[in-house]
Amino acid sequence: MHETKAVEKDPLVYEDVPTPEASKGQLVVKVISCGVCHSNLHMIEGDWVQYGVPAKLPIIPGHEIIGTVADVGEDVEDFKKGELVGMQPIYSTCGHCEYCLTGRENLCPNKQVTGETVDGGYAEYVLADANYVYKVPSSIDPETSSPLFCPGITAYGAVKKASLSPGKTAYVVGIGGVGHMVVQMAKLYGARVVGVSTSKEHQELALKVGADEVVDPGKDYSRVTPKVADSVIVFSPSQMAIDASLRLVKPGGTVVIGVNGDLRQFAFGDEVTVRGTVVGTRQDMKEVLQLAAQGKIRVEATKFPLKQANEVLKKLKNGQINGRAVLIPRSSQPEFLNFSDDFFSVPVRPYFLEGVGQLPLRVYQKRGALGRAGGAKYPV
Ligand SMILES: [Zn+2]
Ligand SMILES: [Zn+2]
Repeated sequence: MHETKAVEKDPLVYEDVPTPEASKGQLVVKVISCGVCHSNLHMIEGDWVQYGVPAKLPIIPGHEIIGTVADVGEDVEDFKKGELVGMQPIYSTCGHCEYCLTGRENLCPNKQVTGETVDGGYAEYVLADANYVYKVPSSIDPETSSPLFCPGITAYGAVKKASLSPGKTAYVVGIGGVGHMVVQMAKLYGARVVGVSTSKEHQELALKVGADEVVDPGKDYSRVTPKVADSVIVFSPSQMAIDASLRLVKPGGTVVIGVNGDLRQFAFGDEVTVRGTVVGTRQDMKEVLQLAAQGKIRVEATKFPLKQANEVLKKLKNGQINGRAVLIPRSSQPEFLNFSDDFFSVPVRPYFLEGVGQLPLRVYQKRGALGRAGGAKYPV
């Protein structure tokens, strides 16, 4: 991306860039998949220029990455070539400020942010600080699980702050990439979970991933019932959603907010706790990967070729992505598939064929027309 502009004007340019080389303490990661985050959209459209984001131009966006180690720099002992790894939005931190020293490194004022201050994962290769790279368990599908590295850890950080326990009721406002992970994690605390969304598809997604109930608040959130939630977790990027969360919460309850907005209609007499939340620490990330490896959480993802990034961002802006979109570079596809930019893999829920064993099949589809590349299904 060379300049910030509306996604309708195709701000991302698909072009050749030099493959990065690992210096001391660094790794080069060959990208298998990179999630498409709402915050990518904000940066690309220039909404965050006032916060100094992007910190450089041109920049490669993308901060929820799974790939394999392609190059190992000097003094890196924990990783070897070919290992499955992941990267999250926190690219590195200073290691010596008061936040880094007290287990709150996500608040480090000197942190580098993947795809915002340094190049990120909308690419075939990305450079990483080896101290902030995570080993990915082999039981996790690398193509669909990259969003664990942003929505996953973000949801985990939020739910930890929400004072949940069995018997409590949690309302999750906004069932997008993060919200659908929040629902799953809030269930792990034993809470009764209610998904709040105006979109029928998002309501269905909430129920699919374990919500006990869904509520349609109406376009202006006027149908929200006041004071019903012990905790409210908000990831819908709208002021109305934040206002509604303060109406939903019971006196003495907790509201956790993961989007920008104003706190209006705040009544001190209700003793409501309001907390912000932003991604999470390296330890949080490791715990999220554990939960995913144990099958307790999963990402609902749809795959697209990297080259379609502009189109995917338009879909995200128009609310047409259910769960999370992930971008797959051509180079991560097996060569024999002859993967072309005109083809994308259709997400087929694990589909097992008797006699072949437990091999998930992917069906390749030409854009706009159903059909199979080369007339064959390939076990991969
Ligand atoms: Zn993200
Ligand atoms: Zn620091």
